[in-house]
Amino acid sequence: MSEIKRLTKPVPPGGVIGIIGGGQLGRMLATAAARLGLKAAIYNDEHNAPAFQVTPLQFVAPYDERNMLTGFAEICDVITFEFENLPAESIAYLASLKPLHPGQRALEITQDRLTEKNFVLSLGLKTAPFAPVSSRDDVAIAFAKLNGPAILKTRRLGYDGKGQAKVTSADEASRAFEGFKSAPAILEGFVDFSFEASVVAARSPDGQFAAYDPPENIHEHHILRRSIVPGQLNKAQSDDAKAIAKKIADALDYVGVLAVELFVGKDGTVMVNEIAPRVHNSGHWTIEACACSQFEQHVRAVAGWPLGDPSRHADAVMENIIGAEADAWESLARSGALHLYGKREARPGRKMGHVTRLKPLTK
Ligand code: AMP
Repeated sequence: MSEIKRLTKPVPPGGVIGIIGGGQLGRMLATAAARLGLKAAIYNDEHNAPAFQVTPLQFVAPYDERNMLTGFAEICDVITFEFENLPAESIAYLASLKPLHPGQRALEITQDRLTEKNFVLSLGLKTAPFAPVSSRDDVAIAFAKLNGPAILKTRRLGYDGKGQAKVTSADEASRAFEGFKSAPAILEGFVDFSFEASVVAARSPDGQFAAYDPPENIHEHHILRRSIVPGQLNKAQSDDAKAIAKKIADALDYVGVLAVELFVGKDGTVMVNEIAPRVHNSGHWTIEACACSQFEQHVRAVAGWPLGDPSRHADAVMENIIGAEADAWESLARSGALHLYGKREARPGRKMGHVTRLKPLTK
């Protein structure tokens, strides 16, 4: 394989940040890049991508199409992602052409739930109990080992609860495994958590680290409903969450923003659920409540600029607008800082926008 390209100096204003993926995260990254005088090029596998509405530099092709990847890389100074499930060959190819952040290793580890969980354990951090399953026999053994309700999760390509099934018996686990076409999976013990949280943080090429205050997250039907900051985390848990993010970012020699989804157990223990190697839905409140949003922070980090100040100047509640809820845009616009992602079709479960409401800073 050819050598990996590194950024030797910061991308100057006027430079181009290439973003793989054209969803709302790409759209908000492109907007943040524009504010810094940088341009964004978006690569997406479908035409009607929300991010295409905010930049003229558009590439539409499958994620493994070499010619298009080459043309995209040619106009970019640095390449990053809003969507991390690119085929490994495409990642390696892009990395041979232009600096790519986060890098190949971070993407490889986080694309596979089993590799990710083992990596987290190797850092001495806590996770839910789990066991790998790649056959029906494994499912029975794993279920017996976990000894209680569990969640079967495919190792790859799961998000917002897709590729996941809660199971309460070995038979049910077996049927779920077949339902996922026997794709390699993990069986994870069901955590009776006290609440969910996350930490969004950034690391620069020279190892500078900046973490946002960790929000408490409330999910409904496996989709994030609301992020609240400050939430239920006490000072020790909040510090713990930031330290977890730093440990992970340093171990991956990470560049850019990453998010770590967390479970806080009934005994107060902070456990890692999963790592997202990108900006994250639970960090959207930073647009209004911080001097430098997660989107600007990511652009700064991947472009080799100094990181911005992640401190929070207000309390915030961010609420997702899901499916037909977007029809109420007029009343939502009155209720807070409204973001709509420009999606035409309001399918059930689809994230159409979000609204952030600020309150004076309490802690
Ligand atoms: P994930 O895709 O792994 O982030 O899971 C989506 C959501 O499912 C989480 O935010 C939790 O609400 C729930 N969930 C996932 N894994 C577990 C678990 N082991 N125990 C309890 N709830 C879980």
